[in-house]
Amino acid sequence: MKILVINAGSSSLKYQLMDPDTGDVFAKGLCERIGIDGRLTHKAPAKDVKVTLEIPMPTHAEAITAVLDILVDPVNGVVSSVDEIDAVGHRVVHGGMKFAESCLIDEACLEAVRACIPLGPLHNPANLLGIEACQKILPDKPQVAVFDTAYHMTMPPKAYRYAIPDEYYEKDSLRRYGFHGTSHRYIAKRVEALMGKGLKLINCHLGNGSSLAAIYDGKCQDTSMGLSPLCGVPMGTRCGDMDITVAQFIAKNYNKSIDEVMTILNKKSGVFGLSGGLSSDFRDLESAANEGNEKCKLALDKFAYEVRKYIGAYAAALGGLDVLVFTAGIGENGATTRAAICEGLEFLGVKLDPEKNKLRGDERIISAPDSKVTVWVIPTNEELMIAQDTAELAK
Ligand code: AMP
Repeated sequence: MKILVINAGSSSLKYQLMDPDTGDVFAKGLCERIGIDGRLTHKAPAKDVKVTLEIPMPTHAEAITAVLDILVDPVNGVVSSVDEIDAVGHRVVHGGMKFAESCLIDEACLEAVRACIPLGPLHNPANLLGIEACQKILPDKPQVAVFDTAYHMTMPPKAYRYAIPDEYYEKDSLRRYGFHGTSHRYIAKRVEALMGKGLKLINCHLGNGSSLAAIYDGKCQDTSMGLSPLCGVPMGTRCGDMDITVAQFIAKNYNKSIDEVMTILNKKSGVFGLSGGLSSDFRDLESAANEGNEKCKLALDKFAYEVRKYIGAYAAALGGLDVLVFTAGIGENGATTRAAICEGLEFLGVKLDPEKNKLRGDERIISAPDSKVTVWVIPTNEELMIAQDTAELAK
């Protein structure tokens, strides 16, 4: 089977054409600057193809057309016709309380995704643009929605309820949802395949956006993001957990609207804010810190400290810990950050092997042989999960 996986943002669209059984990626790429001018970067690994094309993309429909054109292109493409594409899987960020699993897209599903826009106003409208463009251009192909929130629907109420008046939950569904669910689910499945069932697992998805999940026997028990991806550990540009009175103070004293304050907390905060606006990228922060930049040192220190605190909290929530996993950009590549996070977790039975921690590569154990907790680096693969769900539902 060949599944086209689409991750649509407001002005960008990522795609992968892949085999859901083997995980082979035939082609992948990115449309950028949709609605501005338009640029397509396309790779076909088996053909050693990497091209960047300037293509006008006034809307997502032109972006999807450009993707399909290059997939069937005799030189850069990987299929002879779009008939070879069996189905399309879409990443959808917010599924609210309506979706505990992926869904074959029909009018009722689309209505439910639209109904989640108030809960995911920053992401769902863009995801819908991708779906609607594909429906228009590929009307005969099954389309599937895979939700970032769905995996977390197994959390118990004590983990997902906020201690605010009941009516905001009953009427408005305000609660913790959690995100990166497709990544956390992939890691939970990999850990089960590698180590078996019934394990207490904490997965640290640490990338530009970061979240942790406490998982027992493959099922999510708690996660650090909430109603939106803003809370939890500090991130590239998001503030993470914070007394919300800070938001009130900034609004009042700097004469800012709620939306302006939310933009500051989402786009100007996190390690970017702590570094004095230097960078949200951990590689930049590490090199500046190595040259003595105190703000960058604090940003890195704060990040590792908050992740470590969540690991402690989730070990308590799970009543112990068998497996700790690092994944996503920082989790997979940031050896210094991993070491900083694990420093002081020996009391939980976490003992890193410093040499193994430095190794690069695929799935690997980085804990010492006598570590009570097995620590893994496992590259995440959200696209594979989306492709597998899509293949299953499209059958
Ligand atoms: P993601 O959102 O999962 O793509 O992760 C992106 C982030 O990973 C970047 O912003 C960097 O902060 C981080 N990253 C990527 N490579 C490295 C590396 N070699 N060392 C430390 N951090 C890295």
